[in-house]
Amino acid sequence: MPDRAAMDALADTAERAAIRDAVRALCERFGDSYWEELDRTATFPHAFHRAVADAGWLGIAMPEAYGGAGLGICEAAILMQTVANSGGAFAACSAIHMNIFGPHAIVVHGTAAQKQRMLPPLIRGEVRACFGVTEPDAGLDTTRLTTRASREGGGYVVHGRKIWTSTAQVAQKIVLLARTTTACRCSTPTSTAAPSRCARSARWAAPPSIRTRCSSTA
Ligand SMILES: Cc1cc2nc3c(=O)[nH]c(=O)nc-3n(C[C@H](O)[C@H](O)[C@H](O)COP(=O)(O)OP(=O)(O)OC[C@H]3O[C@@H](n4cnc5c(N)ncnc54)[C@H](O)[C@@H]3O)c2cc1C
Repeated sequence: MPDRAAMDALADTAERAAIRDAVRALCERFGDSYWEELDRTATFPHAFHRAVADAGWLGIAMPEAYGGAGLGICEAAILMQTVANSGGAFAACSAIHMNIFGPHAIVVHGTAAQKQRMLPPLIRGEVRACFGVTEPDAGLDTTRLTTRASREGGGYVVHGRKIWTSTAQVAQKIVLLARTTTACRCSTPTSTAAPSRCARSARWAAPPSIRTRCSSTA
């Protein structure tokens, strides 16, 4: 028997229907010809990203104290589902979902100072973040991550390799999953995240035929 509270949490509401309508209307401003041109030239959809930021959607699940809307991950999922159903399909999602879901680690685990410094520029769309989890030898099983971040001076020096980092080419920041203690010295298999400057990569890995070139993955 499904849990009643869980069912209610997922139920459609007038607010969620309004999110769908507003996002659909925004996406309709960016038709097939817009996405086809960007896909042909492998160009990031800057105008779409700006329109989403200006409408406040990048902060949908971010706290109101930092300029977000203070809604939940369910509302964020409705936003992404509506974008995925539009002409930009998953390329449009990739252009924005890194800024919605990846930095949520900062919302949950960041200090007040980190939130104040990092979240408002992401919500305003002035800074784009990518999300560096996957490594050549670690995918879904993140306990196998080996990338290390060592404290040096006032920051961290990172040793390791990341692959499949969507929008790395156009991001100024990366939410990077790295260990501060090597796995063999940990009592539990969890690791620590340390935001860092983006390590840019030019390696091209996305197939050209499924409209992924404008939000590419390196
Ligand atoms: C277009 C694209 C964009 C991406 N963007 C990013 C990005 O921005 N940042 C990033 O960090 N990564 C990104 N990735 C990487 C993606 O998140 C990884 O591919 C994913 O985590 C799976 O890892 P893997 O390919 O190593 O597969 P694996 O983890 O090795 O899994 C391989 C297969 O085994 C199955 N499997 C794994 N573990 C189990 C288990 N315990 N039980 C049963 N089955 C299991 C999986 O379902 C899968 O079918 C991207 C990938 C693609 C294709």
